[in-house]
Amino acid sequence: MTDLRLFNSLTREIETFKPVREGEARVYTCGPTVYNYPHIGNMRAYVFADVLGRTLSYKGYKLTHVINITDVGHLTDDADAGEDKLEKAAAENAQSIWQIARHYTEAYWADIRALNIREPAKWSIATDYVPQMIKFAQGIAGKHCYELDSGLYFDVTTVSDYGRLARAHTDEGESRIAPVDGKRNAADFAIWRKTPPDETRQMEWDSPWGKGAPGWHLECSVMSGDLLGFPFDIHTGGIDHREIHHPNEIAQNQAHCCTNGLDVAANSGANIWMHNNFLVERSGKMSKSSGEFLRLQLLIDRGYHPLAYRMMCLQAHYRSELEFSWEGLEAALVRLKRLVMGVERLKAEAAGGPTHAPVVAFFDDAISDDLNTSVVLTALEAIFVMKKASAENKLVTITEVDSVLGLSLLKLTRADLRIRPKAATISEEHIEASLAMRKEARAAQNYAMSDRLRDELAAKGVEVMDGDPLGWDWKLV
Ligand code: AMP
Ligand code: ZN
Repeated sequence: MTDLRLFNSLTREIETFKPVREGEARVYTCGPTVYNYPHIGNMRAYVFADVLGRTLSYKGYKLTHVINITDVGHLTDDADAGEDKLEKAAAENAQSIWQIARHYTEAYWADIRALNIREPAKWSIATDYVPQMIKFAQGIAGKHCYELDSGLYFDVTTVSDYGRLARAHTDEGESRIAPVDGKRNAADFAIWRKTPPDETRQMEWDSPWGKGAPGWHLECSVMSGDLLGFPFDIHTGGIDHREIHHPNEIAQNQAHCCTNGLDVAANSGANIWMHNNFLVERSGKMSKSSGEFLRLQLLIDRGYHPLAYRMMCLQAHYRSELEFSWEGLEAALVRLKRLVMGVERLKAEAAGGPTHAPVVAFFDDAISDDLNTSVVLTALEAIFVMKKASAENKLVTITEVDSVLGLSLLKLTRADLRIRPKAATISEEHIEASLAMRKEARAAQNYAMSDRLRDELAAKGVEVMDGDPLGWDWKLV
């Protein structure tokens, strides 16, 4: 097998993966803040982390993957301004913050399952780690922090190379941050936020700095360090995290581990930092508040199998921006259908003969090349038309490739992929019966009748696909 090479955002180089612990891979992924439904852009981050995890497993490493659930501490601004996102959602919905967190965590998990994202070894819930967070903060407070009325702040000048990970000019980033009274440096951030005397928060804990709640950056440092041990192998997140959240985690990790300069990547707490680029809409950044809220469920309601969205993600490199469009999703669905039909044909052909997987070196090369899934897909499609391999052998190889892509190709059927749009009013039985009548009419050369049946179906939103090379007969539009 080829060595796995990954782009490290910290060194800005493609590096050969060398595990910290022989034969093991430990990965931490920044998870969702559960104050709203995730949009499909958020889910791109987890599809990416899943492909990374699957690749490490395929390469033979024993994988320990942790994804956190942020149920406290994430403010409406990534820096220190604004309100706690969960407190705000709870107030708006007149529900307890715990109910809000539970509801959106479940919704997120449903999307995870629908996208065939493997369960990580651990979902770490931020509120389960508050005592550890307080301990961590106590450990670094003396040398690296100062207290203000609003909380305990990290002084970013106390560690070297602060912000090396970030790409954007910090000046620009900081200008949009509402100032906090008394901060020594604009980039300093709260690791503990005190509850203001005139406020009650639903989530607050006692601490040496008074009642309050942990800062969001502190949570990830504590959970990753506790569960994976510093330094661990890979830390992932979306590119927005490269600018503030991860530089702040790194600064805390340096303080906690008493490590310094970031020329040695492990001093940051992880050997490799990886970031997926954004899914964007034609109109710009995807957001939970503007325009059509693109949830996975909306795609399903419109008749798209969720794995068509996974296919869409895999067609692009994770470091490239990906533009969402319904046409693009349709094309991804068609590509997935072709693969599923190809597998169905191979299954019918396979006679249970001996199997010996043909070596598909170019698959291994492609996935080892910083997870080049778009090339992997082309390699996968090439397997179907290989002249020398038997159907059995092809199926074995496809199974291996799909262990990395996670498209469920061996399990999915055509029927699974034909999802009924929510707005559709006609039943499948009715469609099949009309189509059978139409077939008879055509056989009897009664084209007037055949056309009438087709028009009737069209009026009910069913497109009859005569001569469709996929043999897909019909679809609901
Ligand atoms: P949040 O729940 O806002 O903390 O975001 C969850 C994850 O989604 C983070 O890793 C973000 O960096 C990532 N993310 C947010 N928006 C997008 C997007 N449009 N495309 C891809 N990833 C995103
Ligand atoms: Zn995080």
